[in-house]
Amino acid sequence: MARYIGPSCKLCRREATKLFLKGTRCLSDLCALERRNYPPGEHGQRRSKPTDYGLQLREKQKARRMYGILEKQFRGYYYKAASSKGITGTNLLILLERRLDNIVYRMGFAASRNQARHLVRYGHFWVNGKRVDIPSYLVKKGDIVQVAEKSRELGSIKQVAERGKTRAVPEWLNVEFTKLKGSILDMPEREQINVPLEEQMIVNLYSK
Ligand code: SF4
Repeated sequence: MARYIGPSCKLCRREATKLFLKGTRCLSDLCALERRNYPPGEHGQRRSKPTDYGLQLREKQKARRMYGILEKQFRGYYYKAASSKGITGTNLLILLERRLDNIVYRMGFAASRNQARHLVRYGHFWVNGKRVDIPSYLVKKGDIVQVAEKSRELGSIKQVAERGKTRAVPEWLNVEFTKLKGSILDMPEREQINVPLEEQMIVNLYSK
């Protein structure tokens, strides 16, 4: 399945949840969900009672869209989570959080996960002193993520990092904005992952 390239705000309206796909706009009055909080399309305002399957499917789509992941890869994360020790739903969220593009976003070096994915893909970040241009790269405890030497003077990165200072950084990460770098202090606990998702519904969907 190809990557979705249509309007991002439609996805939020479809999921009736802010997915924070457009950076600062998401925090402003221009957010489409604030103005039109109903699903897009001709029949968007019709109400019908969703089935259990429908609810589970929506939860999975919400997670996929929030983290910007295609179906096949998302299913791969589920299988990896299910075969690891612990609670499958929590394992799944931890895997999603460990992606390098998510870490760059969480550290405040990008305004959205989408922007983070582009920055990583163009080689603007290093992990442990080495260039990593794979957005799905999974970081681990103790890793150091930093803006690449050649990218430190890029106006766009500086600007975003400046704004990023005002965002709350999760407690499992440490960021030094003056050095444009951060580290992974630990893997997150479920309660430290601030996403509006009911991961058990995703597990129920895939485990049928
Ligand atoms: Fe979603 Fe952001 Fe668009 Fe609001 S502005 S609908 S949060 S992508």
